[in-house]
Amino acid sequence: MRRSLVAGNWKMHGSGASITGLLHSLVQALGDEQTAAEVVVCPPAPYLSLCQQMLQGRAITVGAQNVHAQASGAFTGDVSAAMLAEFDVKYVIAGHSERRRYAGETDAEVAQKCEAAILAGIAPIVCVGESLEERETGQAESVVARQLGAVLSHCDTVALGKLVVAYEPVWAIGTGRTAAPEQAQAMHALIRRVLRNTSAVLADTVRILYGGSVTAENAAQLFAQQDIDGGLVGGASLKPEEFIAICKSVGK
Ligand code: PEP
Repeated sequence: MRRSLVAGNWKMHGSGASITGLLHSLVQALGDEQTAAEVVVCPPAPYLSLCQQMLQGRAITVGAQNVHAQASGAFTGDVSAAMLAEFDVKYVIAGHSERRRYAGETDAEVAQKCEAAILAGIAPIVCVGESLEERETGQAESVVARQLGAVLSHCDTVALGKLVVAYEPVWAIGTGRTAAPEQAQAMHALIRRVLRNTSAVLADTVRILYGGSVTAENAAQLFAQQDIDGGLVGGASLKPEEFIAICKSVGK
């Protein structure tokens, strides 16, 4: 049985004051409650420690938004998996489409980041998803299979038990244009088949999240799909009431 997961990707938003306020609201509503979904927040790196302190002993865990593939070295501005682990980070987003686009991350680099995270005991949330042009030209499935395949072929299959996959169609991120539940389900089913080609155990245990303009209104319908095990939430995760409602809509 897979436990659903809802992760908030705060991107490059917030301040000490706003994050403190947001966490107070989340802790009040979700911090002591065993919700159907596991809840994770992914703040900008400078606030990891603040989040860790405020969420100590609570039912909400902390994730990071990025990690470097190397263990250490002359990589100015980057953060290693071991450093994240020292701050008790449990998840890290790898290969978000914004990083693939703005930082030029390739499939191979994303796979290396996933491996580095796993070796440090951190679960990678690997993002896959097609652009609008790729969907309109019939390449959506092959793009997603290629992006995921790079991770599956690079990492040790047993270690991949920690993996979480987030299907995030690029055309749905931050646009207000959500994939229809059936459209998302079809891609999640494909992802599950790709996982099954590597290992039946992986196919049954790896959680596949949907991301792309998830809101309190559309979350329950998306999460009710057979192969959708929760969500990766951007904009709506910065609005406490909306994010709490999204988290609570799992299992409804
Ligand atoms: C994201 O950036 O991962 C995301 C899903 O953003 P949004 O929910 O704002 O579309």
